Amino acid sequence: MHHTKAYSAASAASPLASNTIPRRDPTEHDVQIEILFCGICHSDLHAVRNEWSSVMPTVYPIVPGHEIVGRVAKVGSAVTKYKPGDVAAVGCLVDSDGTCPQCKAGLEQFCPHLTLTFNSPDKHLGGVTYGGYSNSIVVDERFVLRVPSNLKLAGAAPLLCAGITTYSPMRHWGVTKGKKVGVVGLGGLGHMAVKFAHAFGARVVVFTTSPNKKEDALRLGADEVVVSRDADEMKKQAGSFEFILDAVSADHDINAYMNLLGRDSNLTLVGAPANPLAVAAFGLIMGRRSLSGSNIGGLAETQEMLDFCGAHNITADVEVIPIQKVNEAYERLLKSDVKYRFSIDMASLKSQ
Ligand code: NAP
Ligand code: ZN
Repeated sequence: MHHTKAYSAASAASPLASNTIPRRDPTEHDVQIEILFCGICHSDLHAVRNEWSSVMPTVYPIVPGHEIVGRVAKVGSAVTKYKPGDVAAVGCLVDSDGTCPQCKAGLEQFCPHLTLTFNSPDKHLGGVTYGGYSNSIVVDERFVLRVPSNLKLAGAAPLLCAGITTYSPMRHWGVTKGKKVGVVGLGGLGHMAVKFAHAFGARVVVFTTSPNKKEDALRLGADEVVVSRDADEMKKQAGSFEFILDAVSADHDINAYMNLLGRDSNLTLVGAPANPLAVAAFGLIMGRRSLSGSNIGGLAETQEMLDFCGAHNITADVEVIPIQKVNEAYERLLKSDVKYRFSIDMASLKSQ
C-alpha cells in the first residue's frame, strides 16, 4: 500500500478539501496511473451530496472523479497492454466479475458485481473505492483504456463518462444519417450528445433552459435550438422526433418531451435527478412511444467511442481548472454555468 494526495468530502454538507488516501501497490494485473486530468461529472456532485441516498448511499469520506486520463507509472508482472510512460484512461468502472452474462456480452456496466471507480466496496483495501480527484490510481488493466494520440488530454478526460454515456444509447437506438434527434440539457453530457449526433449525420435539435447557450449549441453541431421554457416553440416540435436523449440533472417535466416523439420513437433518460419523474400514461400510449434509460457503456464500446473520437477529432469543450477551484465549479454546475465540462489539471494538487 502507498499513499497519494486527493480531494475528498467528509460529509454531504462539507466542501471538498485536500486529504491523503491509500492506494494498493499494483498486483500482477494492475496498472498504476499518474492522473493528469479528471473531468467533473454532475454525478460527482450528486454523490458528494448524497443525493442518491436511496439507491447508492455515499460512504464518507468520498473522493469522486471517474473521467480520468493520465500516464502509466508502473505495471504488474502480468500486464501486457500497457507500459510505463503510456497515456491511459479510466472511466466509471474499475472491476466486474467477468463471468456473468452481462460481462460476457461486453456490458460490464450492468454486471451485478461491478465495482465503480468511487464509492463502491474496495475488495483490495476494504472501505470504498476512491476516484480520480487524486494524483494516482491503481486499476486492473482490463479496465484501462487507450486514448488516441491526436486528442488533447484535458478534453479527452470527459469522454470517459460524458462521452460514452451519450455515444452508447445513440448507437443502441440507431441514431444515423437523416434522423431527427433531440438533446435535452446542454451541459457536460448534452454537449457531447450534440457532437456525436452531428457526427452520425442526424438532424440535431437542442432543448435548453439557457437562451444564452443558443450560439454555442449551433457551433457544437445543432441544426436548431429550442428554448424549452417557450411553450410556442415547444408546440412546433410536437410528434416530430425519432429519438430524444434527456441529459438533465434536475427535476423537470419529461412529458413535455415525450409529446415531441413520433410513432414508435424513444426517449432515453441518461440524466439522473434525485427525485422520481412523473410520466403521463397518454404520452406513452399515443404513438406507441417508449421511455428507457442507459448507463454509461461497456469497456469495448468505450474503446470504440474513444477511437471514433480519435478518427473524428472529437473532445469535450473544457474549462480547465486547478483542484482548488472544485467547490466553486460545483456551485456553477448547479447554476447550469458550465461550458461545457470542467477538467481538473491534477498538477495543481501535486504542487499544493
Ligand atoms: P451538467 O453538466 O450539470 O448539465 C446538466 C444540464 O441540465 C444543465 O447544463 C442544464 O442545461 C440542464 N438543467 C439543469 N437544471 C435544470 C432544470 N431545473 N430544468 C431543466 N434543465 C436543467 O450535468 P452532466 O454532468 O451533463 O450530467 C447530467 C445528468 O446525467 C446528471 O444527473 C448526472 O448524474 C447524469 N449522468 C448519468 C450517467 C448515466 O450513465 N446514465 C452518466 C453520467 C451522468 P441547459 O442550461 O441547456 O438547460
Ligand atoms: Zn459521470
